[in-house]
Amino acid sequence: MSEIIQWASLTRRQRDELVAEKVMHLQRVLCPSQGQDHNDDNLAYNRDFGYWRCRTCNAHSQSEEDELFQHGMVFDALPRYSESLDAAWLVLQELVKHPRDQDGSLNDALGKFADTMLDEDYHDAFSEIFPAYEVFIMAAKWTPERICIAALKAVGVDLEMQ
Ligand SMILES: [Zn+2]
Repeated sequence: MSEIIQWASLTRRQRDELVAEKVMHLQRVLCPSQGQDHNDDNLAYNRDFGYWRCRTCNAHSQSEEDELFQHGMVFDALPRYSESLDAAWLVLQELVKHPRDQDGSLNDALGKFADTMLDEDYHDAFSEIFPAYEVFIMAAKWTPERICIAALKAVGVDLEMQ
């Protein structure tokens, strides 16, 4: 059973990272701040805890002296999928890239995505008496967040919305 993720508790960055990993299949690379010292703007000093924290990967040192600590893996470039329609459109394009499976049946993820997006507007994804112009009325209400949530559910991520 997969882990249930509380959407509301994720930061914007965590939401975008989830989409990058699960839907877009982007690969993480070693944080570019690895090996750099505190003169680099990417490192912030935390007075309360006495360590350096990386603004890019969020890794932190064990002590004040330890500037060359181990950084984490990050996405090279992380589009703001959940906030920008430009970026969310890439998610939509990824889902329609292979609309059918090899046996000709509808791609499962695309089918689930359509179900979620259309059902929120009380339409059946597989209706044959659907007036085509309705798609524009619905699409005008799509937000980057809605596209991301439907895409994550479509690829099997267990999201809880509350
Ligand atoms: Zn880092």
